[in-house]
Amino acid sequence: MVLLYDWSDKHKEGVTLMNSPVHASDLPDNQFDIGIVGAGMVGSALACGLARANYRVVVFDRQRPPPFDPQSQPGIRVSALSLASQKMLADYGAWQYIEAMRRCPYRRLAVWEKSAPRLPLPKLGGHRGTLFNCKDIHTPELGSIVENNLTHLALHKAMESLPGITSMCPANLEDLNFSPDTATLTLTQHPPVTMKLVIGADGALSQVRKWANIDFSSDQYEQQAMVITVEYAGKQQDITWQEFTPTGPLAFLPLPDVAGKHYASLVWYNTADNIDRLMKLGESQLIGQIWQHYPDCLPAVTGIVDRGRFPLIKRHAQTYFSKRAVLVGDAAHTINPLAGQGVNLGFQDVMALVAILSRDGKPLADPGEAVHLRRYESERRPLNGQMMLAMDLFYHAFSNNHTPLKLLRYLGLNLADKLPFAKQQVLQYATGIKSPPRWLFR
Ligand SMILES: Cc1cc2nc3c(=O)[nH]c(=O)nc-3n(C[C@H](O)[C@H](O)[C@H](O)COP(=O)(O)OP(=O)(O)OC[C@H]3O[C@@H](n4cnc5c(N)ncnc54)[C@H](O)[C@@H]3O)c2cc1C
Repeated sequence: MVLLYDWSDKHKEGVTLMNSPVHASDLPDNQFDIGIVGAGMVGSALACGLARANYRVVVFDRQRPPPFDPQSQPGIRVSALSLASQKMLADYGAWQYIEAMRRCPYRRLAVWEKSAPRLPLPKLGGHRGTLFNCKDIHTPELGSIVENNLTHLALHKAMESLPGITSMCPANLEDLNFSPDTATLTLTQHPPVTMKLVIGADGALSQVRKWANIDFSSDQYEQQAMVITVEYAGKQQDITWQEFTPTGPLAFLPLPDVAGKHYASLVWYNTADNIDRLMKLGESQLIGQIWQHYPDCLPAVTGIVDRGRFPLIKRHAQTYFSKRAVLVGDAAHTINPLAGQGVNLGFQDVMALVAILSRDGKPLADPGEAVHLRRYESERRPLNGQMMLAMDLFYHAFSNNHTPLKLLRYLGLNLADKLPFAKQQVLQYATGIKSPPRWLFR
């Protein structure tokens, strides 16, 4: 990888001079096959995939991932990565770096509802929900909880080891213009950069989406998510679980141990007002509230490491491409994090686009041709849309006390647990081992 800007050293020295070229002799010409705006988790994965297909790629970002400190407590932003995402990261040479830093594999996953309906129900067995186990699908684990910063850093390390990637981070982009054959990005303090295809991997508020005049639908959920990183006592957990309550789900995600201490990420969905109140509490008061509201299976919380709040907004781009621009990841879709699917869907976009833009591992003459971008859109947009719809159904079905719905979800959760074949299928779809059948998405 060619580094055009190196922010990290200047940053360490506290110098805020940005955008100064550091390897002037390495400056390539300003023509690339593909430019990627946004080198977050999705953009940097895509850069790796496209460079492996022998494209000449340039990536732009406002920032680089922070360095890893093994003694640091876990960061507040974490994601549950599916087995399919882990495999993609391994194929792209990034997983080894995550393994060398830290991750927390989870082997079991449970969902249940807090209050069973007071109705004459058939006896469905011991517990009120569904427990998935990696043994059900004969894998050593169901996935991993990884700090977003570490996935990001691992992918940047993988990019560094690949020829064909030029990194312009930090870059300050000013404008994007198209001709019939090219897309050109204008930067502050740098000559314009031209490419055959520009990819918007620049997150939920995508500037590429705006420049390409791609409209999007947007809907804010009533609930918000509060994420709390906690330290806990007892045994290290290998289970992630979610309890549905009438005010919103309460989730537990185990994190890797640091210096012999156990950590977890709690996600507390609730109204904006209640989250306002929780955010303002002192440490011991917040621990008290967690004890009051979380179920008994929560291990003893001994400290609060960090907390943050996230409004939940669903966005979907009306089209995934326009002219010579195409969108991936959160730039194309943001989804309710209820089932931890956001970045996993982004990685699926990456795998689909890389497969479409390479023929037997070789680059196409013109990756920006509409025929390829249309194929990508028709493959990914319906799947992402249906996943968003499924999350909406889940959100609304579990956010009210309507008796028939209570009965249905109680039966659904319990029956799922009692039907081994159905359970195995659901688990294979959830971990990305298998794609759901097409008819499910019509
Ligand atoms: C509370 C919460 C919990 C979640 N949990 C999970 C989970 O368990 N599993 C899961 O799969 N997903 C989860 N998600 C979703 C996941 O975090 C996102 O889907 C993911 O971060 C999107 O990655 P991205 O690379 O597409 O976008 P981003 O992470 O937003 O990255 C965009 C990049 O573009 C750069 N950028 C932006 N604008 C510009 C510009 N103009 N010029 C240059 N660079 C630019 C940014 O600096 C950034 O590096 C969760 C989300 C939330 C809110």
